[in-house]
Amino acid sequence: MRRIKITYAAGYWLLVTSCLFLAVTLSARLNDAVGQEVEASFSQVNSDSLISVYTQKMHKYLDKDNKAAEIFSFTKEGIEVYQPETDTSQKQFDFIIFWNEISWLESLSYCNPKCLANVCREKGSQRLNGKLIKDGSNCPNCKLITRSTMDGVARPLRNIGIALDPGHMAGDLETAKREKKWVEMKKPPVELIEGELTLATALILKKKLEAQGATVMLTRDQPNMSSFGIDYKKWKDSLFLKSLDSAYARGDISFEEKSYLHTKANDTEIFRRFFMLEDLHERARKINEFHPDLTLVIHYNVDETNSNWSKTSKKDYNMTFVGGSFGAEELNTPEARIEFLRLLLTDDIESSIEFSKYMIESLVQKTKVPAALDSNAVYLKDNCMNTDVKGVYCRNLTLTRKVKGIICYGESLYQDNVMECKALSKKDFKIDGMETSKRVEEVAEAYYEGIMNYVKSKNK
Ligand SMILES: [Zn+2]
Repeated sequence: MRRIKITYAAGYWLLVTSCLFLAVTLSARLNDAVGQEVEASFSQVNSDSLISVYTQKMHKYLDKDNKAAEIFSFTKEGIEVYQPETDTSQKQFDFIIFWNEISWLESLSYCNPKCLANVCREKGSQRLNGKLIKDGSNCPNCKLITRSTMDGVARPLRNIGIALDPGHMAGDLETAKREKKWVEMKKPPVELIEGELTLATALILKKKLEAQGATVMLTRDQPNMSSFGIDYKKWKDSLFLKSLDSAYARGDISFEEKSYLHTKANDTEIFRRFFMLEDLHERARKINEFHPDLTLVIHYNVDETNSNWSKTSKKDYNMTFVGGSFGAEELNTPEARIEFLRLLLTDDIESSIEFSKYMIESLVQKTKVPAALDSNAVYLKDNCMNTDVKGVYCRNLTLTRKVKGIICYGESLYQDNVMECKALSKKDFKIDGMETSKRVEEVAEAYYEGIMNYVKSKNK
């Protein structure tokens, strides 16, 4: 089935550019031979407003520690990118994106950051090469993908691709303890495995969405199966050593860490220090390869101040995350800096906030649990940035950073809440032979209605 992509670029351009700049980008797109002098003069005219728009956006959604200006410098010509140095007087220039080149940076949404950072640059030049990205001649991953509109779609979700990521992977207590994602209480007797709750939610939601014509991709669809389609033991036997080498080659782990994991680490250490992150990267890779119109990441939350979650908490909230909120330490790799630029120069954050608004509203209404304020959890104050929507926060998580396009990272309900732990423990609902609770079905229904309402709003 041929899927149609949502055009959200239109609103973005209206938001961030003047009419004059639109004319420049259009002409640049239609005719690559536009004279450099003409482009230069246009970009000079508009650089002040672009600097103002992107500076404001950076402060609002992306720059948690107010340090990004040391790396991204907005000049009359464009955005200069520097490599972070401990001694700021010695910072090294990396590359520049000229203002009159950012029209094709929409494609950042579907480009491989590594490729952009290393390959798509003209040889011997610090200028990113838009032409190479456009025709994909230099790196096939970066071929520009044209999105068409989903206006006029007959069935509500026909031609719409939705990626669902059921958080974590445990389907038994041993695996849940290994990934530290379980709630176990004596009073009341409760045993909850987050990976089971998220999988059941995703399977129920998948059925509902497919009934409306959507094409749905799950990053994992069996208990205890990782996003690689195999369990941890099989992964360790077959993929571990290869993955270790590539992670080291990418610069993701140090030589010492590689040696430790290879020779000394036990199964649980390998799981926590390496496998979990590899699994997240694989989820992001699968989602981006699917090119979904919408991505929903499904998690169930806990009260972070309730140690070990062995007793009940009175707190219960819903919240959702989108990309952004980079801490100063989170811009150290070239890939992170490219992801920062993607989130700055595309409307992925704005569109994700809009989608997440429908999702949080539906969660609150359906579960009767309020949206969290930033005063309700320590990490919301310390790691997140507020958006204009209650319960929607910018947060630099692996998936909100790596998944391109529109994403809602849902953290529904506190599993250790005194009422929720009982409701979620019940086995009064079945999906694909898996026993779960009606409470889980309510969360799936909330997400379903959120997606339907969002799509309806786009088709008006
Ligand atoms: Zn989780």
